Amino acid sequence: MLQQDLHIHTTYSTSDNSVAPEQTVALVADVKHAIIVGISDHFECLVNGDFEGYEKEIRQVGLKVGVEVDGHPWVDEATNYDVDYYIFHCRDQNADYRSLDKLLTTGKPVIIAHPNVFHTNLNQVPSECLVEINNRYIWRTEWKQYYGPFTNQFKFVISSDAHQPNWLAQAVAQCAATQLNIEEHLVF
Ligand SMILES: [Zn+2]
Ligand SMILES: [Zn+2]
Repeated sequence: MLQQDLHIHTTYSTSDNSVAPEQTVALVADVKHAIIVGISDHFECLVNGDFEGYEKEIRQVGLKVGVEVDGHPWVDEATNYDVDYYIFHCRDQNADYRSLDKLLTTGKPVIIAHPNVFHTNLNQVPSECLVEINNRYIWRTEWKQYYGPFTNQFKFVISSDAHQPNWLAQAVAQCAATQLNIEEHLVF
């Protein structure tokens, strides 16, 4: 069993057509492929009244409640919701780097989502943030070159970013972390 997976989508990500209709909170809870499991659907899909049901359903099955926040325009609103942690899309722009301070003031874990595909400049990211190694995207970039210089500067989390049941694994990300000599930081 995996140690941790905090980046998982379900059918609550209604705008994301990669999500399989079978990818429900109940199914993720049943599979329980990791010791620590959190659901992190797209925050913008939850702001029109769906958050309450989302949180309730996830808490009922004993999983952690996260949201994936798409950059600075959503940060103010995101801090109003009772989540356990944030997954954050940090594009290479000042407004996104600045908004990280606001998320960190909540005292909740802030995970920088797949920074290698957004070309996030990790030199601009506060070291309190956690950096994700994302199984969906790690292989698409020169990950050794990208993550290598920062392995002593951050704590890292390994995620599936699963949108479908068969994505509930971290094989590629685990392999990358091992080769980078990264010991995963366990958030909970
Ligand atoms: Zn994402
Ligand atoms: Zn995601």
